[in-house]
Formats: sequence, structure tokens, C-alpha cells
Amino acid sequence: MTTIGHFINGRTITPQGRSQSVYNPATGNAEKSVLLASKTTVEEAITHAQTAFADWRNTPVSKRARVMFKFKHLLEENAQHITALIGQEHGKISHDAAGELQRGIENVEFACAAPHLLKGEHSKNVGPSIDSWSEFQPLGVVTGITPFNFPAMVPLWMFPLAIVCGNTFVLKPSERDPSCAMYLAQLLKEAGLPDGIFNVVNGDKEAVDVLLSDERIKAVSFVGSTPIAEYIYTTANTNAKRCQALGGAKNHAIVMPDADMDNAVNQLLGAAFGSSGERCMALSVVVAVGDEAADQLVSKMQAAMSELKVGSYQDASNDFGPLITKQHKQRVEAFITSAERQGAKIVVDGRNIQVDGYSDGFFIGATLIDSVTPIMESYQAEIFGPVLQVVRVDNMQQGMQLIDDHEYGNGTCIFTRDGEAARYFSDHIQVGMVGINVPLPVPVAYHSFGGWKRSLFGDLHAYGPDGVRFYTKRKTITQRWPSSGVREGASFSFPS
Ligand code: NAD
Repeated sequence: MTTIGHFINGRTITPQGRSQSVYNPATGNAEKSVLLASKTTVEEAITHAQTAFADWRNTPVSKRARVMFKFKHLLEENAQHITALIGQEHGKISHDAAGELQRGIENVEFACAAPHLLKGEHSKNVGPSIDSWSEFQPLGVVTGITPFNFPAMVPLWMFPLAIVCGNTFVLKPSERDPSCAMYLAQLLKEAGLPDGIFNVVNGDKEAVDVLLSDERIKAVSFVGSTPIAEYIYTTANTNAKRCQALGGAKNHAIVMPDADMDNAVNQLLGAAFGSSGERCMALSVVVAVGDEAADQLVSKMQAAMSELKVGSYQDASNDFGPLITKQHKQRVEAFITSAERQGAKIVVDGRNIQVDGYSDGFFIGATLIDSVTPIMESYQAEIFGPVLQVVRVDNMQQGMQLIDDHEYGNGTCIFTRDGEAARYFSDHIQVGMVGINVPLPVPVAYHSFGGWKRSLFGDLHAYGPDGVRFYTKRKTITQRWPSSGVREGASFSFPS
């Protein structure tokens, strides 16, 4: 069985210690094992990153960017290998994994613009012979702690930008699908990144807690579930670290009576069931305005769902694959059962699905639940599975109130032909990322990604312009070069 170790100072190490199985979710078999880093291993990674920082911060930014150009090419050249690794450990079908990788590569492209992004701000003659400028300096060693559901894209949100800004990095990927991060580390080395600048430690809470407490770590980027995001943010702040911690979601789509219903159904299918609903931007609740729209939507969804193909990542004709673990599959099934018990109507039931040749895989079929109400557990929690719930309301205002009252505020969408309604919705809704007839409004790499309310703890969103600010600290320098012979006397009033 393959053992996945850690990547520290430019090489893979496999020290003795605790380990955990890595499953192929389609077969249900433990096919690899991953080492879980001890305190000593994490500290070793931090020490190498700290040592590498001294030279890297002084390396010209164009040289740092050049490594990212090469890295982008290597990601493209090796895309098939990366998507296969994602498939084996996450279960994502190759077309979906390719989309994830492409969104990651776009963040590398953004990072290539570092010479422009880090130019700073300059003001000449702010006073007699006085010039002033702000420059953006790297922080030092920074860390990223990432979730299982985007093993390539979410790390790529973080380390290319952090590194190109002059920082060094320790990544702690999800222990459930760790191979992708290890492979990205190899490609970065191949791209010419000097040893020690990018390190990967695999592990669990033990490794994370070392990263959160070691004073050499200056900033923490986290993406994962809300309870852990809150813990990471609170602990990092207590330890005086900069932190952005992105959490879970419950994304609602409002379907207005005037919407193009066939288009809305197509969009909802992909956004609710793509990647088995294991996306923080998945649309998991559809709020139908008026019973007529709701009835039409439910019957069209039901018909369209009968065509969906569920199976292994190896068959590109599948629409989506299995869930990440057996425990998670059971949790999702329990939410469907609980909705049923609390009075909702199961229109399409994905429990007990059989996938030919994969009887032990962690599969659940696409599930549609109608007449869900806000008091139901399945409505309140993030299910993170291929389950779409329909809530019926009388008007848009009621739908917006539901969204605003929910603890999460990651993404949302409205399907309508009415520009006035769409504009009112996007202006007032208390959610960080809004789509208008766009079901997954994931911002492109040159904007920034982040939710509101309990979907994000921190002030700056991930990647894009906010990412540059997150991974740098501003220094403002004011200088005077008086003409020779000009001397000023002492002044005791505040300089103005
Ligand atoms: P998770 O919170 O279980 O794990 C995320 C990371 O935290 C992993 O690296 C894990 O090892 C670590 N971790 C887990 N428990 C910990 C603990 N007790 N102490 C310290 N570290 C711990 O999340 P997951 O199941 O891997 O990912 C799914 C979740 O991530 C969903 O809630 C999803 O919405 C969220 N997510 C959010 C975004 C976003 O941008 N907002 C993006 C992707 C995923």
C-alpha cells in the first residue's frame, strides 16, 4: 500500500508515527495511507520555511513570478495526472476535476502579475522636498489549512499568491485526499522554486494546533467547515496571527414565477448535484415563489433527475461520483430521513442507490425534497450531499427574509427575467457572492472569494486583490532630501 508522507525542504519524508487510511470512495477500499505529522515534523517544516524566507523576500519579484509562469505550464501539462489523483481520492468525475484545476490555474495566472500587484503607492512632494510611498512587504512564514472537497483548487487559491508576494508557506491539506498537494509540491520544485519555500505537512488536529501556536507562523488561511473555521480564527487571533477562515454554507436560489423554468432546472441540476453537492457554493435550497412556479419546478426537476448518471470518476459520462467517506454518506442519508420524519415530501429518493460494479462505494443518488420548512434540521444544517430541498414562499420578500435569517451567507442566486427584482435582490441580500441567473457565482481569480455571516471569519476574502493584502503588510516611508544648505529649525507643533 502506498504511504503518503510530507514534503519538507524540497524532499519527501516518511518519518515513523501515526497514520490514517486514504479511501477510494468509488470502491470503498482503503488504497493508500497518509502519515499524520507530529509536532516535531511540523516544527521542522516551519524551521525550513523560516530559513528560506531571508533570501526569498529579497528575490526580485519578477524572478518569483517567473517560477509561477513555469508552474502554470507544468499544471497544464500534467492536468490528466492531477485530475486522476483527485478522482482516486475524492471521487470527482474527470470533467469536474478538470474544471476545479482550471479555476486553480487561474489563480496562478493572477499570481504571475505580482510585479504589477506589488508596485505600491507613491506620492511626490507631500511637503517641501518630501516624498512618501507605501510598499507591501511579505509577512514571513504563512500557512494554509484546506478541506477535502477541492484538493487542487483551494490550495491554489492560497500558496501561489502568498509565495509570489515573498512569503514562505506550510500547507496542511485534508488528510482524506492528500496526494494532490504532494504532487503540486513536486511540480513547484520542477518549476524552479528553491527548497524550503513551499512545504506540505499531512496530518490532523495535532498538526494544525502546532501551526496555530508556533510564533513563527505569521498568518493562517483556512477553508473548511464552520465549527473548525471558528476555532481556527479564535485561536489564531489569540496567538496574534492574521487569519482568514472560510466556513460552510447553505446556498439558496430564488426562482421567481417569471423565470425561464427550463433554464432554471438545467442550472439547478448542475449546481445542486455536481460534485455530489460537496461544494461550498452548491445550491442546496430552492425557494420557489408561488405554488404554480413550485409545482412546475418540482415536476420538471423530477423528470430531469431521472437522466442523471452516478458512478466512478473513471467514466467521464457520469454526472457525479460518490461522497467522500462512508460516515459522510450515512450523515447525508440521516438528513433525508429526518426531513421525511419532520413532514417534508421526498420526491426523488437517492438512498439505497446501486452502482453496477461498485457495491461498496459511498454513493447517494440525486435527491429532491419538497415542502421543506425552516424549522427542519435538514434546512438548518449544511448537508453537503446531492440533496436539493424546495421551500415554498408567497413572494420574493419572504424568500429574501429566509436567506437573511440563515446563519450562513456564502452564495445565493435569483432566477428571473425582471431586472428590477434582480437589482433589488443583489443590492439588499445579506450574502457575500450573488448570482443573477448564474447558479454558482464563484468569483474569477482577479476578484476575491468570500461569504458573509458564519461563512467567513476575518476581514479579507480569499485570493484576488484581497489575497494580495492578506499576504503582505503595508509599510509607509516618508523621506526628505532638502536642497543643500537648507536647514529647518526645531518645530514642536504637529507636522502638517
Ligand atoms: P473540515 O472542517 O472537516 O476540515 C478542514 C481542514 O481542517 C482539514 O485540513 C482538517 O484536517 C482540519 N481539521 C478538521 N478538524 C479539525 C480540528 N478539530 N482542529 C483543527 N483542524 C481540523 O472540512 P472538510 O470536511 O474537509 O470540508 C468540507 C467543509 O468545507 C464544508 O463545510 C464546506 O462548506 C467547507 N468549504 C468551504 C469553502 C469556502 O470557501 N467557504 C470552500 C470549500 C469547502
